[in-house]
Amino acid sequence: MAEFDLLALIHELGGNQRSDVLLGIGDDAAVLRITEGMDLVTCVDTLVAGVHFLPATPAWDLGWKSLAVNLSDLAAMGARPNWAQLALTLPNSEPAFVRDFMQGFLALAQREGVALVGGDTTCGGLAISVTAYGLIPPGQALQRDGAQPGDHILVCGVLGEAAGGLACLQAGGRSTEWSEVVLAKPRQERLVQRLQHPEPMLAAGLLLRGRASACIDVSDGLLSDLGHLCTASGVAAELWLDSLPHSEDLCALFNAEQVLDFILAGGDDYALCCTVPEALLVAVQDDLAKREIETHAIGRVVAGRGINVFDSTGHTFQPRRRGYEHFRT
Ligand code: ADP
Ligand code: MG
Repeated sequence: MAEFDLLALIHELGGNQRSDVLLGIGDDAAVLRITEGMDLVTCVDTLVAGVHFLPATPAWDLGWKSLAVNLSDLAAMGARPNWAQLALTLPNSEPAFVRDFMQGFLALAQREGVALVGGDTTCGGLAISVTAYGLIPPGQALQRDGAQPGDHILVCGVLGEAAGGLACLQAGGRSTEWSEVVLAKPRQERLVQRLQHPEPMLAAGLLLRGRASACIDVSDGLLSDLGHLCTASGVAAELWLDSLPHSEDLCALFNAEQVLDFILAGGDDYALCCTVPEALLVAVQDDLAKREIETHAIGRVVAGRGINVFDSTGHTFQPRRRGYEHFRT
């Protein structure tokens, strides 16, 4: 299929418009009308084959995930997402791949009211870059740098299951056979679903606005991302092993050491980790519970630097690794 036809296909599938999209796909650039008095929040995230996903990942899943990881960043800012741009680098112009990819992308985009307003299509090794845009009332963006000693540390969402899903796929032998690995095995299948179909915690982000002192989305592992929050805020953290959410599926499939490693350092969770002042804790937890958002208070912010993890006897626990880093030598 020629580039022009691929673009026509994307245009045809992605033609869901919002009234604030004055000009979408098809011109040299998109024109968006921003609600007066709102702040624009934007982020970009790239997924590269073999780095961020196994090369055999189904196209639909890639479409969903490439948008979901960006909406997770907007959720961590407390923003509501409105628009997205999609830069696709494809090894060939296979229309079936693009069609499936777009269906996954648009399933999430349409559910969340996000319009695809443009992008770029190039030939090369498979990589997907999505830019997302959202709005937030002035000055209300949740930043990483506001945590104060005494604040509680909350996690909204699930930890470690996506890393468990990846381990299931890798243990299943060649990744091209993963449908055989996961089918008819409900626990494995649920974990792989977590890896492939992350749910951006948008509702949690909105509830945390104006109440959390700091927030970050957990994409590279809890210790790594909470570490970024602590560094930005100039504080330290104490975590309690017993308070961390222990997934039943993980505990059934992996030994205790592996489970802790996935929870503390596994990637691709897309949970939110935030800090909440003591005075607001109960109200915030109640509101999250009312929306049926899984929430766990996992520790406290303290003065100092770094993160200490304590076991049930009060002893310091030494994690096996701390998270994923690109360019690690
Ligand atoms: P130009 O050469 O002017 O940059 P392109 O040929 O790259 O224009 O793109 C034509 C139109 O198609 C633009 O509106 C662009 O935003 C849109 N577009 C290209 N690739 C994608 C894509 N992968 N997803 C969504 N829109 C796309
Ligand atoms: Mg272009």
